[in-house]
Amino acid sequence: MSAADPRSRVPRTDRLLADPRIGSAGAGLGAAAVRAAITAAQGRARAGEIAPEDVASAVVAELSARGASSLTPVLNATGVVVHTNLGRAPLSDAARQALQDASGYVDVELDLTTGQRSGRGVAARQALLDACPAAEDALIVNNGAAALVLATTALAAGREVVISRGEFVEIGAGFRLSDLMESTGARLREVGTTNRTHPADYRDAMGPETGCLLKVHPSNFRVDGFTSSVPLAELRALADEHGVPLVVDVGSGLLTPDPALPHEPSLSEALEAGADAVIASGDKLLGGPQAGLLLGRTETIRRLARFPLARAVRADKLTLAALEATLRGGPTPVASALHADPQRVRERAEALAAAVGARVVEHDGRVGGGGAPGVPLPGWAVRLPEAAARPLRLGTPAVLPRVHDGACLVDPRCVPEERDADLLAAMRAALAEVG
Ligand SMILES: *Cc1c(COP(=O)(O)O)cnc(C)c1O
Repeated sequence: MSAADPRSRVPRTDRLLADPRIGSAGAGLGAAAVRAAITAAQGRARAGEIAPEDVASAVVAELSARGASSLTPVLNATGVVVHTNLGRAPLSDAARQALQDASGYVDVELDLTTGQRSGRGVAARQALLDACPAAEDALIVNNGAAALVLATTALAAGREVVISRGEFVEIGAGFRLSDLMESTGARLREVGTTNRTHPADYRDAMGPETGCLLKVHPSNFRVDGFTSSVPLAELRALADEHGVPLVVDVGSGLLTPDPALPHEPSLSEALEAGADAVIASGDKLLGGPQAGLLLGRTETIRRLARFPLARAVRADKLTLAALEATLRGGPTPVASALHADPQRVRERAEALAAAVGARVVEHDGRVGGGGAPGVPLPGWAVRLPEAAARPLRLGTPAVLPRVHDGACLVDPRCVPEERDADLLAAMRAALAEVG
């Protein structure tokens, strides 16, 4: 290598580490991340991709673009509101603020007036009870699956959980609710058939071995045609005949019925129909953080809270803070996307399409996340060439479109309106790349 070779002018690591611009861009990212960015930029200079004098600014640009974790924020342009692969519900501004506030030391289990220990998560529990007055008590755990395991274990370990065969749900990635419940020692007593279950089926199965009666909302599939299931009021009567609790897993976490989702059961309805404990997830239609919600009668909820497994599935302070803020704050992003005015979605799609010389097509959004299967949310999307999907995903910001029928569809439904300019910039960059 001659002295004139630009590669000899690549700045050394110690000089770059001492550069105050790199110091401030890398603050909070950790020494390993800063060194990795420096090594990468030096490598690019040695390969002739950038000039040696630009190495420092390349490191600054790389570090500034990076979040504190490797998770990349994504604009969800799929039209699927609760997108499991994108972390389900995006949090409200209030919930984001609450997460920030709760991330240091907080009085999650302390009464500041007395200086004594207090009940954990009292405020989040109260927010749930205020949002769902049909419940006498509530317990917040790690997720819906944990709530189900806790309920069936506490109420029926070593005994039977009576459940309709039509309610055997696989919740994704090969996880079956039935396996989950049996893994902790409750036995499942299946009754009825896939499409029809009658009161007599339950009655024949119930006896001294019955620990609880369970109804699960088959949230991610629907059986149409010759079907029948037993209404909750009748299950309540059967549970009373045998003196066992009735547990209902509604899944998606609607607090009250939503006219936009006519077949989606709500927590309130299930409680009013007599459930002793109702189970739902926090990060589906409720629009909050990952959590498992158990609401119901005081006696049943207390029994669950005192069961040793409850400690293993307890919610952390961040969950409690974000859940309370979600419940107390205004409409969640999930609610806004779910109830988006189709005309407004169309106007936004048309403005984006006009700016890139594309056209719009009708495009139904979906609830997603195992909620309201088959219920279309009428809307519109920008139709781009399929090849634009990859550069959109890899762009800044990352955009996830829907690839369908040989096209790349960009649906603005789940993109906050104030991000439309960013979405447009990403679309322009992606189209420039595919030519
Ligand atoms: C989603 C779902 C679960 C699992 O809840 P997680 O919060 O994902 O653990 C359990 N039951 C039903 C009916 C569901 O829809």
